[in-house]
Amino acid sequence: MHRLPRSVGALQQDLRVGAKGLPGGGEHGFAPTSIEERRAEFRFELPYLLAQRCLGQMQVCGSTGEIALPSGFEEVFELVEFHRFFRPSSSESTVLPATRKLIQSSLMSRLCVHTITTKPLNFEQCLAEFPKRGVTGITIWRQALEGRDLATVKRQTADSGMEVVSLCRGGFFPSATSAGRQAAIDDNLKAIEQAHAIGAPLIVLVCGAVPGQSLVESRKQIADGIAAILPAAEQAGVKLAIEPLHPMYADDRSAVNTMRQSHEICDALGSPKSLGIAVDVYHVWWDPELKEQIDLAGLTGRLHAFHICDWKTPTTDLLNDRGLMGEGCINIREISDWVDATGFTGHREVEIFSNHWWGTDQHVFLDKIAASYARLYA
Ligand code: ZN
Repeated sequence: MHRLPRSVGALQQDLRVGAKGLPGGGEHGFAPTSIEERRAEFRFELPYLLAQRCLGQMQVCGSTGEIALPSGFEEVFELVEFHRFFRPSSSESTVLPATRKLIQSSLMSRLCVHTITTKPLNFEQCLAEFPKRGVTGITIWRQALEGRDLATVKRQTADSGMEVVSLCRGGFFPSATSAGRQAAIDDNLKAIEQAHAIGAPLIVLVCGAVPGQSLVESRKQIADGIAAILPAAEQAGVKLAIEPLHPMYADDRSAVNTMRQSHEICDALGSPKSLGIAVDVYHVWWDPELKEQIDLAGLTGRLHAFHICDWKTPTTDLLNDRGLMGEGCINIREISDWVDATGFTGHREVEIFSNHWWGTDQHVFLDKIAASYARLYA
């Protein structure tokens, strides 16, 4: 049993001498970088559990001997930065890819971030910054594609090492006029082309609503709109996901407000395989039928996406005051476990609209996202 020292300085010393049981041992090809240099980048303290989990992974990487952390270990680095402590001692070393693989295959392997979550960052910054926090998936909002060559976007994303999880967003089918409904269909057909071009397997549909038009009529128009674009989606190999929105948006953003209503549209259209549901905890956490509707989505193969954030009390803006996981009252982990129990193994997508967080340093915000995600799933 090797017990880590409390202080960073002592840890650094251990790494330098390649203490037995630590990945700094020469046989694994690691060489420590300057901890002082790294510390300047750290903005978080790492909870004990995360440190332990992370070191456990390093053991799997090839270290021998057990490592335990003294309780109260609060110094140091967040999980996602841990691997950056170590770099190959030679260019031939396979250790760094192995370390990266471990991180991707374990705790952070299902972390996806939406480009809208870090709205102040441009697309290239998202591609550069997300992976540094262990993010393995990216959901691209269409705003990020404006003025860009889609083939280049596809290549850039592939180069970042992240998987494109979905394109956000299509939908907004209802309109008071047939010309408006046709314009929506045309826009959704364009979204399908965009998704295909960038290699996004899924489009999330925020279905739309028209103030003053009955919700029943809007839902009919939504079903008609989806029916009109389904053949193109299937031909392009792009799936569609209806995202039920919280009822507070029933006036102008979505007449589909529950999982049950989403299922009803899928049923009405003959349960096409390419049509499913995006479960966003922000919109459905309150629903007393949530667990059974998630179960049903699993049974019917309709669980296409899972979005997370939190509900703040008080919420000061209906659209743009969503919380970082842990800031609010949603039972995110419980809902997430229900989702996983259906056999869903897709990404957990962090989608946060927040004037507050958008007004802060996005690098710090990304650190907080990674840390809160790791805390949630540790
Ligand atoms: Zn969402």
